[in-house]
Amino acid sequence: MQRTIKNIVSSVGVGLHSGQKVALTLNPAPEGHGVVFERLDIKNNARIKVNALAVKETKLCSTIGNENFSIATVEHLMSALSATGIDNILIQLDGKEIPIMDGSSIPFIHLIKSAIIVEQKKAKEFVVIKDVVEIIDGDKYARFEPYDGFVVDFTIDFPHPAFKEEESQVSIDFFKDSYIEEISRARTFGFMQEVEYLRSNGLARGGSLENAIVLDDYKILNEDGLRYKDEFVRHKILDAIGDLYLLGNPIIGKFTAHKSGHDLNNRLLRLLIEKKDAWEVQTINASEHTSHSSLSSYLHVNEELKKIAQKNIL
Ligand SMILES: [Zn+2]
Repeated sequence: MQRTIKNIVSSVGVGLHSGQKVALTLNPAPEGHGVVFERLDIKNNARIKVNALAVKETKLCSTIGNENFSIATVEHLMSALSATGIDNILIQLDGKEIPIMDGSSIPFIHLIKSAIIVEQKKAKEFVVIKDVVEIIDGDKYARFEPYDGFVVDFTIDFPHPAFKEEESQVSIDFFKDSYIEEISRARTFGFMQEVEYLRSNGLARGGSLENAIVLDDYKILNEDGLRYKDEFVRHKILDAIGDLYLLGNPIIGKFTAHKSGHDLNNRLLRLLIEKKDAWEVQTINASEHTSHSSLSSYLHVNEELKKIAQKNIL
Protein backbone atom coordinates (compact mmCIF):
# COMPACT_ATOMS: atom_id res chain seq x y z
CA MET A 1 0.00 0.00 0.00
CA GLN A 2 1.02 3.63 -0.45
CA ARG A 3 2.65 5.29 2.51
CA THR A 4 2.87 8.74 4.03
CA ILE A 5 3.86 10.10 7.43
CA LYS A 6 1.45 10.72 10.28
CA ASN A 7 2.92 13.85 11.83
CA ILE A 8 4.62 17.04 10.68
CA VAL A 9 8.36 17.02 11.55
CA SER A 10 11.12 19.56 11.04
CA SER A 11 14.87 19.73 11.06
CA VAL A 12 17.50 22.38 10.42
CA GLY A 13 20.80 21.96 8.63
CA VAL A 14 23.28 23.51 6.25
CA GLY A 15 23.40 23.18 2.46
CA LEU A 16 26.56 21.43 1.25
CA HIS A 17 27.14 23.83 -1.63
CA SER A 18 25.32 26.99 -0.54
CA GLY A 19 26.51 26.87 3.08
CA GLN A 20 23.04 28.29 3.77
CA LYS A 21 21.13 27.32 6.92
CA VAL A 22 17.86 25.71 5.86
CA ALA A 23 14.77 24.59 7.78
CA LEU A 24 13.20 21.45 6.35
CA THR A 25 9.64 20.36 7.15
CA LEU A 26 8.03 17.07 6.17
CA ASN A 27 4.22 17.03 5.92
CA PRO A 28 1.74 14.16 5.44
CA ALA A 29 0.02 14.01 2.03
CA PRO A 30 -2.98 12.09 0.62
CA GLU A 31 -2.90 9.07 -1.73
CA GLY A 32 -1.79 9.85 -5.26
CA HIS A 33 -0.09 13.09 -4.15
CA GLY A 34 3.44 11.92 -4.79
CA VAL A 35 6.65 13.44 -3.45
CA VAL A 36 6.31 17.22 -3.72
CA PHE A 37 8.91 19.85 -2.81
CA GLU A 38 8.01 23.44 -1.94
CA ARG A 39 10.23 26.50 -1.45
CA LEU A 40 8.68 28.62 1.30
CA ASP A 41 11.05 31.53 0.67
CA ILE A 42 9.61 32.05 -2.82
CA LYS A 43 6.13 33.46 -3.36
CA ASN A 44 3.70 32.24 -6.02
CA ASN A 45 3.38 28.57 -5.36
CA ALA A 46 6.95 27.33 -5.73
CA ARG A 47 5.95 23.65 -5.67
CA ILE A 48 7.22 20.81 -7.80
CA LYS A 49 6.29 17.14 -7.89
CA VAL A 50 9.27 14.88 -8.48
CA ASN A 51 9.64 13.27 -11.89
CA ALA A 52 12.63 12.51 -14.07
CA LEU A 53 12.02 15.57 -16.24
CA ALA A 54 11.95 17.90 -13.21
CA VAL A 55 15.70 17.32 -12.81
CA LYS A 56 17.34 20.41 -14.28
CA GLU A 57 20.95 20.12 -13.13
CA THR A 58 23.13 17.12 -12.32
CA LYS A 59 26.57 18.60 -11.74
CA LEU A 60 27.78 17.81 -8.19
CA CYS A 61 24.25 16.93 -7.03
CA SER A 62 20.71 16.40 -8.34
CA THR A 63 18.79 19.66 -8.60
CA ILE A 64 15.09 19.78 -9.41
CA GLY A 65 13.00 22.78 -10.36
CA ASN A 66 11.58 24.81 -13.22
CA GLU A 67 12.30 28.17 -14.83
CA ASN A 68 11.37 30.00 -11.60
CA PHE A 69 13.18 28.10 -8.87
CA SER A 70 15.55 25.28 -7.97
CA ILE A 71 16.02 22.86 -5.11
CA ALA A 72 19.50 21.36 -4.95
CA THR A 73 20.92 18.18 -3.39
CA VAL A 74 17.63 16.28 -3.18
CA GLU A 75 19.23 12.84 -3.65
CA HIS A 76 19.98 11.82 -0.04
CA LEU A 77 16.48 12.73 1.18
CA MET A 78 14.97 11.00 -1.89
CA SER A 79 17.06 7.93 -1.06
CA ALA A 80 15.65 7.89 2.50
CA LEU A 81 12.10 8.29 1.15
CA SER A 82 12.66 5.37 -1.23
CA ALA A 83 14.03 3.18 1.55
CA THR A 84 11.16 3.94 3.90
CA GLY A 85 8.63 3.45 1.10
CA ILE A 86 7.12 6.94 1.38
CA ASP A 87 4.96 7.63 -1.69
CA ASN A 88 3.16 10.77 -0.59
CA ILE A 89 4.77 13.69 1.22
CA LEU A 90 5.08 17.46 1.05
CA ILE A 91 8.63 18.62 1.74
CA GLN A 92 8.93 22.33 2.53
CA LEU A 93 12.17 24.24 2.82
CA ASP A 94 13.06 27.91 3.24
CA GLY A 95 16.16 27.88 1.05
CA LYS A 96 17.54 26.53 -2.20
CA GLU A 97 19.26 23.38 -0.99
CA ILE A 98 18.32 20.35 1.12
CA PRO A 99 20.56 20.26 4.22
CA ILE A 100 23.51 17.88 3.97
CA MET A 101 23.16 16.69 7.60
CA ASP A 102 26.02 14.18 8.18
CA GLY A 103 26.51 13.51 4.44
CA SER A 104 24.50 10.25 4.53
CA SER A 105 20.78 9.48 4.58
CA ILE A 106 20.47 8.09 8.12
CA PRO A 107 19.46 11.49 9.64
CA PHE A 108 16.57 11.61 7.14
CA ILE A 109 15.58 8.02 7.96
CA HIS A 110 15.38 9.02 11.64
CA LEU A 111 13.39 12.16 10.79
CA ILE A 112 10.89 10.18 8.68
CA LYS A 113 10.61 7.51 11.34
CA SER A 114 10.03 10.15 14.05
CA ALA A 115 7.03 11.35 11.99
CA ILE A 116 5.59 7.78 12.11
CA ILE A 117 5.18 5.99 8.78
CA VAL A 118 1.56 5.09 7.99
CA GLU A 119 -0.04 2.96 5.30
CA GLN A 120 -2.78 4.46 3.17
CA LYS A 121 -5.76 2.96 1.39
CA LYS A 122 -4.53 2.90 -2.23
CA ALA A 123 -2.08 0.36 -3.62
CA LYS A 124 1.50 1.38 -4.28
CA GLU A 125 2.29 1.80 -7.97
CA PHE A 126 5.56 0.20 -9.04
CA VAL A 127 7.34 0.73 -12.34
CA VAL A 128 8.16 -2.83 -13.41
CA ILE A 129 11.07 -3.13 -15.86
CA LYS A 130 10.09 -5.41 -18.78
CA ASP A 131 13.07 -5.01 -21.08
CA VAL A 132 16.72 -3.91 -20.98
CA VAL A 133 17.25 -0.16 -21.13
CA GLU A 134 20.85 0.97 -21.20
CA ILE A 135 22.85 4.12 -21.60
CA ILE A 136 26.57 4.04 -22.37
CA ASP A 137 28.83 7.07 -22.23
CA GLY A 138 32.49 6.30 -22.91
CA ASP A 139 33.64 3.91 -20.18
CA LYS A 140 30.54 4.60 -18.04
CA TYR A 141 27.20 2.90 -18.26
CA ALA A 142 23.88 2.54 -16.44
CA ARG A 143 21.34 -0.17 -17.18
CA PHE A 144 17.91 -1.42 -16.17
CA GLU A 145 16.90 -5.01 -16.73
CA PRO A 146 13.96 -7.14 -15.62
CA TYR A 147 14.33 -8.68 -12.16
CA ASP A 148 11.81 -9.91 -9.62
CA GLY A 149 12.88 -7.53 -6.87
CA PHE A 150 15.01 -4.41 -6.65
CA VAL A 151 18.74 -4.85 -7.06
CA VAL A 152 21.38 -2.15 -7.36
CA ASP A 153 24.82 -3.23 -8.57
CA PHE A 154 27.42 -0.46 -8.68
CA THR A 155 31.09 -0.27 -9.62
CA ILE A 156 33.35 2.74 -9.14
CA ASP A 157 36.83 3.32 -10.49
CA PHE A 158 38.90 6.15 -9.02
CA PRO A 159 42.65 6.20 -9.64
CA HIS A 160 43.50 7.02 -6.03
CA PRO A 161 45.44 5.04 -3.38
CA ALA A 162 42.49 5.09 -0.92
CA PHE A 163 40.22 3.34 -3.46
CA LYS A 164 41.03 -0.36 -3.48
CA GLU A 165 39.91 -2.51 -6.37
CA GLU A 166 38.37 -5.19 -4.14
CA GLU A 167 36.18 -2.49 -2.56
CA SER A 168 35.01 -0.94 -5.82
CA GLN A 169 31.88 -3.02 -6.45
CA VAL A 170 28.80 -3.72 -4.33
CA SER A 171 25.51 -5.38 -5.21
CA ILE A 172 22.49 -4.98 -2.93
CA ASP A 173 19.18 -6.79 -3.23
CA PHE A 174 16.75 -4.57 -1.38
CA PHE A 175 14.17 -7.29 -0.82
CA LYS A 176 16.79 -9.33 1.02
CA ASP A 177 19.41 -6.89 2.29
CA SER A 178 18.79 -3.99 4.63
CA TYR A 179 19.19 -0.50 3.16
CA ILE A 180 19.46 0.96 6.63
CA GLU A 181 22.21 -1.41 7.67
CA GLU A 182 24.10 -1.66 4.38
CA ILE A 183 23.73 1.76 2.78
CA SER A 184 22.14 4.52 4.89
CA ARG A 185 25.29 5.52 6.81
CA ALA A 186 27.55 5.88 3.77
CA ARG A 187 28.69 9.51 3.48
CA THR A 188 29.36 11.68 0.50
CA PHE A 189 33.02 12.13 -0.40
CA GLY A 190 35.21 14.69 -2.08
CA PHE A 191 38.81 15.35 -2.98
CA MET A 192 40.69 18.21 -1.32
CA GLN A 193 41.82 19.61 -4.69
CA GLU A 194 38.23 19.64 -5.89
CA VAL A 195 37.02 21.23 -2.65
CA GLU A 196 39.46 24.11 -3.08
CA TYR A 197 38.34 24.62 -6.67
CA LEU A 198 34.66 24.42 -5.70
CA ARG A 199 35.13 26.90 -2.84
CA SER A 200 36.82 29.37 -5.17
CA ASN A 201 33.65 29.09 -7.30
CA GLY A 202 31.33 29.68 -4.36
CA LEU A 203 30.43 26.00 -3.94
CA ALA A 204 31.02 23.36 -1.24
CA ARG A 205 30.64 26.21 1.28
CA GLY A 206 28.88 23.98 3.80
CA GLY A 207 31.23 21.04 3.30
CA SER A 208 33.43 19.88 6.17
CA LEU A 209 34.84 16.74 7.76
CA GLU A 210 31.57 16.66 9.73
CA ASN A 211 29.49 15.92 6.63
CA ALA A 212 31.84 14.38 4.06
CA ILE A 213 34.77 12.06 3.65
CA VAL A 214 37.58 14.25 2.37
CA LEU A 215 40.67 12.87 0.65
CA ASP A 216 43.97 14.48 -0.24
CA ASP A 217 46.18 12.98 -2.95
CA TYR A 218 47.11 9.99 -0.77
CA LYS A 219 44.69 9.33 2.05
CA ILE A 220 41.43 9.95 3.88
CA LEU A 221 41.65 13.06 6.08
CA ASN A 222 38.80 12.18 8.49
CA GLU A 223 40.38 11.06 11.76
CA ASP A 224 37.74 8.41 12.43
CA GLY A 225 38.21 6.83 8.99
CA LEU A 226 35.37 5.10 7.19
CA ARG A 227 31.99 3.78 8.39
CA TYR A 228 32.14 0.87 5.90
CA LYS A 229 35.38 -0.37 4.35
CA ASP A 230 33.76 0.23 0.95
CA GLU A 231 31.88 3.37 1.99
CA PHE A 232 32.56 5.19 -1.32
CA VAL A 233 30.73 2.71 -3.55
CA ARG A 234 27.99 2.34 -0.92
CA HIS A 235 27.43 6.08 -1.06
CA LYS A 236 27.18 5.88 -4.85
CA ILE A 237 24.40 3.31 -4.32
CA LEU A 238 22.72 5.65 -1.81
CA ASP A 239 22.85 8.42 -4.44
CA ALA A 240 21.57 6.13 -7.21
CA ILE A 241 18.57 5.02 -5.11
CA GLY A 242 17.71 8.68 -4.53
CA ASP A 243 18.23 9.61 -8.18
CA LEU A 244 16.11 6.68 -9.36
CA TYR A 245 13.30 7.55 -6.94
CA LEU A 246 13.03 10.88 -8.79
CA LEU A 247 11.13 8.79 -11.35
CA GLY A 248 8.18 9.22 -8.98
CA ASN A 249 7.54 5.48 -8.48
CA PRO A 250 9.47 2.63 -6.88
CA ILE A 251 11.12 0.32 -9.43
CA ILE A 252 10.98 -3.44 -9.72
CA GLY A 253 14.02 -4.48 -11.71
CA LYS A 254 17.80 -4.54 -11.61
CA PHE A 255 19.95 -1.42 -11.94
CA THR A 256 23.58 -1.94 -12.88
CA ALA A 257 25.99 0.97 -13.07
CA HIS A 258 29.66 1.42 -13.82
CA LYS A 259 31.14 4.82 -12.92
CA SER A 260 27.67 6.35 -13.12
CA GLY A 261 26.58 9.50 -11.33
CA HIS A 262 23.66 11.93 -11.11
CA ASP A 263 23.87 12.81 -14.81
CA LEU A 264 23.88 9.28 -16.20
CA ASN A 265 21.30 8.11 -13.62
CA ASN A 266 18.91 10.81 -14.82
CA ARG A 267 19.62 10.19 -18.51
CA LEU A 268 18.76 6.53 -17.96
CA LEU A 269 15.41 7.53 -16.38
CA ARG A 270 14.65 9.81 -19.32
CA LEU A 271 15.45 7.02 -21.76
CA LEU A 272 13.24 4.64 -19.76
CA ILE A 273 10.32 7.07 -19.99
CA GLU A 274 10.79 7.27 -23.78
CA LYS A 275 10.87 3.48 -24.18
CA LYS A 276 7.30 2.86 -23.20
CA ASP A 277 7.42 -0.85 -24.11
CA ALA A 278 10.26 -1.46 -21.65
CA TRP A 279 8.16 -0.99 -18.50
CA GLU A 280 4.68 -0.88 -17.06
CA VAL A 281 3.03 0.43 -13.93
CA GLN A 282 1.72 -2.32 -11.67
CA THR A 283 0.21 -2.60 -8.25
CA ILE A 284 1.19 -5.68 -6.33
CA ASN A 285 -0.91 -7.68 -3.95
CA ALA A 286 1.68 -9.48 -1.85
CA SER A 287 -0.76 -12.13 -0.67
CA GLU A 288 -1.70 -13.10 -4.25
CA HIS A 289 1.77 -12.97 -5.75
CA THR A 290 3.97 -15.34 -3.83
CA SER A 291 6.97 -14.30 -5.91
CA HIS A 292 6.62 -10.89 -4.30
CA SER A 293 6.01 -12.17 -0.80
CA SER A 294 9.43 -10.83 0.10
CA LEU A 295 7.86 -7.40 -0.32
CA SER A 296 6.24 -7.83 3.05
CA SER A 297 9.66 -8.01 4.69
CA TYR A 298 10.90 -5.06 2.64
CA LEU A 299 11.10 -1.72 4.41
CA HIS A 300 10.75 -2.84 7.99
CA VAL A 301 12.20 0.42 9.15
CA ASN A 302 11.72 0.04 12.89
CA GLU A 303 13.24 -3.41 13.15
CA GLU A 304 16.19 -2.40 11.00
CA LEU A 305 16.90 0.69 13.08
CA LYS A 306 16.74 -1.38 16.25
CA LYS A 307 19.20 -3.87 14.78
CA ILE A 308 21.82 -1.27 13.98
CA ALA A 309 21.25 0.56 17.28
CA GLN A 310 22.03 -2.72 19.06
CA LYS A 311 25.28 -2.94 17.15
CA ASN A 312 26.13 0.56 18.39
CA ILE A 313 26.96 1.76 14.95
CA LEU A 314 24.63 4.74 14.87
ZN1 LIG B 1 25.53 11.78 -2.39
